[in-house]
Amino acid sequence: MKKLASLKQLVNRRQLLFSGLALAVLSPRAVLAEESRLPTSRTRHSAAKKSNSGKFIVMLDPGHGGIDSGAVGEEGSMEKHVVLEIANTVRQLLSSHPHIEARLTRDSDHFIPLYQRVEIASQHGASLFMSIHADGYTDPSARGASVFALSNRGASSAMARYLSDRENAADAVGGLKVQQKDQYLQQILFDLVQTDTIKNSLTLGKHVLDTIRPVHHLHSQHTEQAAFAVLKSPSIPSVLVETSFITNPSEEKLLGTTAFRKKIAGAISDGIVNFYNEQQRRNRRVS
Ligand SMILES: [Zn+2]
Repeated sequence: MKKLASLKQLVNRRQLLFSGLALAVLSPRAVLAEESRLPTSRTRHSAAKKSNSGKFIVMLDPGHGGIDSGAVGEEGSMEKHVVLEIANTVRQLLSSHPHIEARLTRDSDHFIPLYQRVEIASQHGASLFMSIHADGYTDPSARGASVFALSNRGASSAMARYLSDRENAADAVGGLKVQQKDQYLQQILFDLVQTDTIKNSLTLGKHVLDTIRPVHHLHSQHTEQAAFAVLKSPSIPSVLVETSFITNPSEEKLLGTTAFRKKIAGAISDGIVNFYNEQQRRNRRVS
């Protein structure tokens, strides 16, 4: 049900247009109800949702933790420690930004289930979610950074699960009470919001790849798409960054140095700032 609350807050002009179209097809009476609810463009929530402090909340998620060490390098470096240090550095770097506030899903070595990480981001009213990892692979020659966003297939399975929850199905979408018989309508609205979220996630991914490219080898030049559980937030742009391969001996050495971790953290924070700036420009154009 929390998910629906955040759907409501995320609705931007384009989504309202889409949902208006969907409603028009399915129920003319519902359209009237929806229109009377619409705020003026000035008060309309946008994709750059803000916290109470007015800041753009970035939820950084250092992968693994506690009993889950993540990938382990040849020399015994553990992914869970390396990614916590990188995430902490990203937070420090972003702390000087006047409009962005970074928070961490974990700031110590403890285990958090994947679904809870998404939940934490939603509870904090995050506008962006980024899971930070250091890849592991059987072939030690695999190297470089990659960025992942949710695949459409993953999205549809998330939608299926979401829709299977009868309680949620009776809840409100976009402030409109939807009966269970309108599940088809809900499916359309959910799909539209998630499609928009994936689009924003791909934009975020592109910004992060563009800022990592000058400082480190890229394993993949484009944002890849997969069904990672931590990326299944229906309304928060989410990416997973594999900073490098901890199972590659030379990258394990790099990850062990403060200089390299700072370099990667700097690239990640620049990518986030560039994404934020693009969102701001887009919001100015639509308001
Ligand atoms: Zn990992």
